[in-house]
Amino acid sequence: MSILKVIKYPNPLLRRSSRHIDLIKEEDKRLADDMLETMYLNHGVGLAAPQMGISKRIIVIDVGDGPIKLINPEVVERRGSATGDEGCLSLPGIMVTVKRSEKIRYKGLDGDGKVIEGEAEGLLSKAIQHEIDHLNGKLVVDYANPIKRLFLKKKLLKTPNF
Ligand code: ZN
Repeated sequence: MSILKVIKYPNPLLRRSSRHIDLIKEEDKRLADDMLETMYLNHGVGLAAPQMGISKRIIVIDVGDGPIKLINPEVVERRGSATGDEGCLSLPGIMVTVKRSEKIRYKGLDGDGKVIEGEAEGLLSKAIQHEIDHLNGKLVVDYANPIKRLFLKKKLLKTPNF
């Protein structure tokens, strides 16, 4: 496994819509493993392939209950709403208040192409929705109101980290 570079805002690759994976290849499995390792090193709870500059529908998550790899993930059911502050490894140094569905049912494939289906709430629910946003080119700054967004963008561009 190897550590990958996490690309940062305003890299345009973060805004691309990622493509569905029809056939899981060895390189996709390796990418998911590398993403997990990269996530742990950066103390994140989730990462999406576009954050590595790769426009494929692959996400990895670990909210403390062990690693989850999801290929072609989707939310199939939503209930309630929950608002909370979220950070992102591609947007270092900022937190954004985001309103999301409270409980979700999600679906996807594991690294072997087996269908995974589950229910999530709390941090896991938030993380899955956050990472799926990345696959659609959406970032947490998009949830801020226009004035806050301007402030956050300025702050991000000043961060020496990107
Ligand atoms: Zn993120």
